[in-house]
Amino acid sequence: MSEKDRNERKTPVLYLVVPCYNEEEVIEKSAVVLGEKLQRLQREGKIASGSKVMFVNDGSKDRTLALLHQIAARNALYSVVSLSGNYGHQSAILAGMMTARPHADAVVTIDADLQQDIEALDKFLERYMDGCEVVYGVRNDRHSDGIFKKGTATLYYGLMHLLGSKVITNHADYRLMSRKALDALAEYRETNLFLRGLIPTMGFVSDVVYFDVKAREAGHSKYTLSKMMTLAMDGITSMSVRPLRMISALGFIVFVFSFVMSVLSLVDWARGNNVPGYTTTMIVSLLIGGVTLLSLGIIGEYVGKIYMETKHRPRYIIDSLVWREEAQEDK
Ligand code: UDP
Ligand code: MG
Repeated sequence: MSEKDRNERKTPVLYLVVPCYNEEEVIEKSAVVLGEKLQRLQREGKIASGSKVMFVNDGSKDRTLALLHQIAARNALYSVVSLSGNYGHQSAILAGMMTARPHADAVVTIDADLQQDIEALDKFLERYMDGCEVVYGVRNDRHSDGIFKKGTATLYYGLMHLLGSKVITNHADYRLMSRKALDALAEYRETNLFLRGLIPTMGFVSDVVYFDVKAREAGHSKYTLSKMMTLAMDGITSMSVRPLRMISALGFIVFVFSFVMSVLSLVDWARGNNVPGYTTTMIVSLLIGGVTLLSLGIIGEYVGKIYMETKHRPRYIIDSLVWREEAQEDK
């Protein structure tokens, strides 16, 4: 970054975008903690007035939305975007960022459960003032996760890198983006969203900030196993076509193998021993059948993705928005 950029940066209007899905147990506490942090940053002159916490209600089925509306009614520091249904974490974040874009100089996305250390915001803002357009929050360790989550995460990031994706290991959507980066993100039209893989491909000056992960404040994880699997699949198939290439490679190997087998059986036949083993036949047909089905499955994943992309459906629908201009004093 040049000295010029550094001088041009003015204290930003910061929006915290917080996706919420059935978070009634934790949301009031989160609102207080996030709100106090914003006010403190503002007093310290690190962010400009007009900064806000923007909650995104992702089709919660509990009292989350009612609680959010109460919170927003008390103080204009809080704003609420409510989606028409449950679109998932990635789309909820996108909805929040795109709604904040016209008002904010920088947006930080953070989970509602306060697992991500809010004190890292100071470091995010320092990097922003240094000229970074994107700042990634990366967790220091995985103490607070169970063995299962820790193991699957390590395996997953390894696989992603193997497949050529640019994901940043242990970065989970706790991230600052400048208005410039948000404008660029708005140009991407894909339905199969995997922000963690997509944003690093946009370029821009970026940096990483390390933070500690805490246990969830209250409630339980809203990422069910099936949501996690969908995210994992999206991550792979929306960022890389390498699995398709691997199928071609596999197809080639199987072809060479069956060619050799054919020659061998022909030789056998010519020699008159044309009663080959039952085992060989079984192995070959099972192997080829298995490989074919697996390959079809992988190709099917991509065809499904293409199908969804060609529909150009909206990635989220906003049902209501609560946003007030006025200054941030409590009633
Ligand atoms: N979330 C969401 N929509 C969903 C699932 C989760 O907006 O369909 C939000 C959730 O409210 C939370 C964040 O995404 O703010 C991360 O979810 P969670 O903390 O449950 O995931 P974990 O930390 O266990 O991976
Ligand atoms: Mg969490």
